[in-house]
Amino acid sequence: MRAFTYQRAATPAEAAAAAMRNPGAKFIAGGTNLLDLMKLDIETPSHLIDVNGLKLDKIEPLQDGGLRIGALVRNTDLAADARVRRDYGLLSRALLAGASAQLRNKATTSGNLLQRTRCPYFYDTNQPCNKRSPGSGCSAIGGFTRHHAILGVSDACIATHPSDMAVAMRVLDAKVETVRADGSARVIPIADFHRLPGNTPHIEHALAPGELITAVTLPKPVGGVHIYRKVRDRSSYAFALVSVAAIVGPDGTGRVALGGVAHKPWRVEAGERDMKSIADRLLAGARTTPDNAFKVTLVKRTLAAVMAEAKKG
Ligand code: SF4
Repeated sequence: MRAFTYQRAATPAEAAAAAMRNPGAKFIAGGTNLLDLMKLDIETPSHLIDVNGLKLDKIEPLQDGGLRIGALVRNTDLAADARVRRDYGLLSRALLAGASAQLRNKATTSGNLLQRTRCPYFYDTNQPCNKRSPGSGCSAIGGFTRHHAILGVSDACIATHPSDMAVAMRVLDAKVETVRADGSARVIPIADFHRLPGNTPHIEHALAPGELITAVTLPKPVGGVHIYRKVRDRSSYAFALVSVAAIVGPDGTGRVALGGVAHKPWRVEAGERDMKSIADRLLAGARTTPDNAFKVTLVKRTLAAVMAEAKKG
């Protein structure tokens, strides 16, 4: 690990301004992903800004019936919150499907959104990787790709986003609240928060340098049957091969997002007008490799299982 300086920030604006003053800085909260990346020399921040003291650890009701989740709410606390379990059940289930109990106790809402891919070549600094070292090439293309993306891929990167929580938030139409280095606030719809790789896979989200997530808001509950189904190689502490987050109404209408298949949670709102053909709409344009072509079938079967479960109520 390389040497770095460290400070504790007292307010969100102070944290964002400190990041602006230190171009090599990173925010740290739970550190469950960042510290691993620093030990491997993949992330090399010259300065760490500890945001744990910013008092962003509350879950509060909104006047419109929704919920504001502070950026520092731990994954365990969010999954266990009675309002989340009652009104946003798929979010609670997605959180509990992620990582391990120890990691969920430390990991935060904002850190979960910002966690980086688990592509093995990204973690192997002996291998070219456009995400870790822009322009160096992609070792996954032509390599071992069982876990890699089949949707929204580019010739520069075929990595997936590893979060379960973000897939549930995509279905719930969450919004990400931030503060910029100049102290001004903005709101980013979750659909626009994560990016596809294109030619710049190292740019993974819509945050500007020094911009800090302060909260995630959920609109008022929409009812329906909430399901989060994750298919993985073992039953805990494993990333999704494919996951499905769904809200299905009594008339069969619904919303669906996929995890484990793209660089961001994958949702096609236009396809939700006819849920019978939703699998085809979600999978349109899929680009597979011999290793991960099974994901097309796996998505279809997982979706079918989710719809059957929803019918039972
Ligand atoms: Fe790097 Fe993306 Fe290629 Fe993996 S898929 S090696 S993260 S560029």
